[in-house]
Amino acid sequence: MVDQDPRRMIPGTDTLLAHPRVRRAAAKLSAHVVREAVQDAQHRARRGELDPQGVEAEVVSRLETFRPSSMRPVINGTGVVVHTNLGRAPLSQAAQQAVAEAAGYVDVELDLETGRRSRRGDGARRALLAACPAAQDALIVNNGAAALALAAAALVGSGEVVVSRGELVEIGAGFRLPELIASTGAGLREVGTTNRTHRHDYASAVAPPAGAEVRAVLKVHPSNYRITGFTSAVPVAELADLCAARRLPLIVDVGSGLLAADPALPEEPDLASTLADGADLVIASGDKLLGGPQAGLLVGTSSIISQLADHPLARAVRADKLTLAALEATLNSGPTPVTAAVHADPEALRTRTEDMAAELGAETLPHDGRVGGGGGAAVPLPGWAIRLPEEAAQPLRAADPPILTRRSGSDCLLDLRCVPAAQDPSVLSAVRSVLVALPAVVRTPD
Ligand SMILES: *Cc1c(COP(=O)(O)O)cnc(C)c1O
Repeated sequence: MVDQDPRRMIPGTDTLLAHPRVRRAAAKLSAHVVREAVQDAQHRARRGELDPQGVEAEVVSRLETFRPSSMRPVINGTGVVVHTNLGRAPLSQAAQQAVAEAAGYVDVELDLETGRRSRRGDGARRALLAACPAAQDALIVNNGAAALALAAAALVGSGEVVVSRGELVEIGAGFRLPELIASTGAGLREVGTTNRTHRHDYASAVAPPAGAEVRAVLKVHPSNYRITGFTSAVPVAELADLCAARRLPLIVDVGSGLLAADPALPEEPDLASTLADGADLVIASGDKLLGGPQAGLLVGTSSIISQLADHPLARAVRADKLTLAALEATLNSGPTPVTAAVHADPEALRTRTEDMAAELGAETLPHDGRVGGGGGAAVPLPGWAIRLPEEAAQPLRAADPPILTRRSGSDCLLDLRCVPAAQDPSVLSAVRSVLVALPAVVRTPD
């Protein structure tokens, strides 16, 4: 009797693995990737979702098109420059090249002339000092949070650090600065109120006997929100005087990593001014407005930086060679993509936006971009967007490369601020394909 069950026709694992194209593709992949592709195709055939005749072709296609990393480059059409979900700052060409070159063996911790071990990542450190001449020394760690934790561990220990209640911020994804500091064992001495903190609040907190355990004063830039109305805060320069009188280090977390004041971002503190105002240690992130890789930057006095570098935790939060390479290249080369996007000329943006909209038969509207990512909370960046139907958002995310847009009411807004102009033609053709595939009623609103 002939067995009619088509599942009997499903090729076995050995047969599939022996197929020449499977073998060739498998030679460059991990065993678990190959196993999963084979088993997945067999399961689907058993469930009747795949013709047993097609199993072999399915395995071949899956292995030949397999991407070893699941992260995919995307087009940022949101107008949000430092977008945390999209990896914050896109690296400059110079930084990307430096990462590629540092990927192999590299002299990250070796003096090629003497053949001896050298200070790790000294090139990046020197580039940061050159870009920030007001600092005596610098240390680069894994990220801003790590920088803060290291500062708390090394400078505060089991003592107390004074912070204003208006600066006890949550940055994003539930990351709360006070909890991070407390986790190092340091005690928080909160002063002032949510909206107002005065010089005398700090002065009485650091005065003995109550302030006997105070080891440092911390000022934090509330990056992602703004307290308005009846408010008052103590400027860095005044805190610096107070700290100097008590011989306490003043730590300032500026967050965004702006090197020098930027008129386009009037409320954003920068490293140079904060040091000039007398901060002993300034902390910032590498992948926000600095436009570099994820990193924590610590700049300040030589004695404080060596105290931090000598602390055991420094090893646990040290930056890797790819970060050091990218950061050095970012600091040593021209304007970053972040700077270009923040300072994009509104008229040039308008022309690009209107040209693309005309090709698509879509409308344009004024649309403010934003810095995002814990920087420039309230500063609008004047610009333009193309108005698309909301039904376009999902298929645009499914495009290759995926295009991310901004949802606004029932519109899907495409903002070209963060799209390199050279990519306009491919964005245009991807959007056009998506619009053509939408049902006609959706395509022509109103
Ligand atoms: C972003 C930010 C941090 C955290 O920095 P990461 O680099 O994200 O770890 C800390 N403090 C402030 C003020 C920030 O804006």
